[in-house]
Amino acid sequence: MALKEQAQEVCLVCGQHKTEGIHIFNQLICDSCQKKIVETDVTDWKYKYYMNKLAKLRIGKCKKSLESAVVHAGTGGEAEKH
Ligand SMILES: [Zn+2]
Repeated sequence: MALKEQAQEVCLVCGQHKTEGIHIFNQLICDSCQKKIVETDVTDWKYKYYMNKLAKLRIGKCKKSLESAVVHAGTGGEAEKH
């Protein structure tokens, strides 16, 4: 019995083919990139790099929305401990 093949998608950030990750506005961001974005401080240059990538989604002007989308997806329903 053939299982439905998981379509491989290209991660928006690292450009690698990934099967797992989160989707933001129909674009895939793989788990590792998503974690990096969440962990990156907003003052870090890398953050700008990521945001620049994400700006391709035409939501760059909506940074706050994006952040909450990423963080929300990243926690996956698990309680976040601080
Ligand atoms: Zn990636």
